[in-house]
Amino acid sequence: MLASTGYGATSSSAPLSKLDFKRREPRPDDVQIDILYCGVCHSDLHTVRNEWGNTVYPVVPGHEIVGRVTAIGKEVTRFKEGNLVGVGCLVDSCQHCSSCAEGLEQYCENGFVGTYNGEEMHSGGMTYGGYSTNIVVRDKFVLHIPENLEPAGAAPLLCAGITTYSPLRQWRVEPGQKVGIVGLGGLGHMGIKLAHAMGAHVVLFTTSPGKREDAKRLGANDVVVSKNSSEMEAHRNSFDFILNTVAAPHPLDPFIELLKRDGTMTLVGAPASPHPSPQVFNLIMKRRRLAGSLIGGIAETQEMLDFCGERGIVSDIEIIRIQDINAAYDRMLKSDVKYRFVIDMASLKQ
Ligand code: NAP
Ligand code: ZN
Repeated sequence: MLASTGYGATSSSAPLSKLDFKRREPRPDDVQIDILYCGVCHSDLHTVRNEWGNTVYPVVPGHEIVGRVTAIGKEVTRFKEGNLVGVGCLVDSCQHCSSCAEGLEQYCENGFVGTYNGEEMHSGGMTYGGYSTNIVVRDKFVLHIPENLEPAGAAPLLCAGITTYSPLRQWRVEPGQKVGIVGLGGLGHMGIKLAHAMGAHVVLFTTSPGKREDAKRLGANDVVVSKNSSEMEAHRNSFDFILNTVAAPHPLDPFIELLKRDGTMTLVGAPASPHPSPQVFNLIMKRRRLAGSLIGGIAETQEMLDFCGERGIVSDIEIIRIQDINAAYDRMLKSDVKYRFVIDMASLKQ
């Protein structure tokens, strides 16, 4: 077994603290990676505090991983030692169901293996994530990071980037369309950057008036404070697409009413308790659609990384030491993230 050290939690009420644990020895199709940086996703916090009710302890979170390859199994051809690589939310899937066959491993009919809090397919144990020194991952689930991207800023692309890129592509956002992004946190700020890069007219909906200038700098054409009903009213029936990234339950109707005929609002935010049920008539009368979306498949994640590489798009980050992770979680709960925390894993050795 391979020794690893990281930060994890031993119960839903325990703060994250230093843990030693073991990973599997690299198999012939595995890549072993020394982790340089790991982004901090709100899903890490939901999981650590067992807000989705499925956490197995101890849990070591982290699924926005950037690192360097230190060893490869003998069947690995796409990577070599020293490559800058990424690992996102998925580390394995069955590879033979209809979803896997379409490159949609996140919807694997037999259940994908999450980068943390997932059941390992080989050892039968649990997977441990990227708040740690190293990781061993099946080569098919390892991504190439464009070398021109700054590695720490690229880390959040592995979850926040693909989770916003995939629905923007799925619902065919095009130049000139009017696109709303709800919530300016980790996902939301990538949603603005990517929708802007796709040529859309982007409007941010926020509960934080102080984020207005930042949103414009990130690429929003307009900013609406969602609690202000007259500001909301001005945008009725006008959106082609809205991407909702909010991590807490909230009424959906005020946003659905902003969609034009045949418009879609896709939910990616995953609050622990449900949103109030929306009015069916708000959907019926204008053939509007309410949808959901889960991260993205491996091929689409590489497509997104290459898209960002060509345009020099990275996340706006605040680098933290691993010792400051619990304070970062507290700030995340106050919507005080500008706009993604990224852990410098060198701090683990201090
Ligand atoms: P985050 O950085 O904490 O951002 C969430 C943003 O939502 C906040 O910055 C805030 O923006 C807004 N918000 C928070 N509480 C709110 C409230 N009570 N009412 C209205 N707005 C509120 O979180 P994140 O990492 O972007 O993740 C967002 C959600 O997506 C989480 O639930 C996460 O688990 C989920 N997620 C889903 C997927 C997927 O595949 N579907 C993937 C990754 C993450 P403003 O200050 O601008 O209002
Ligand atoms: Zn995530």
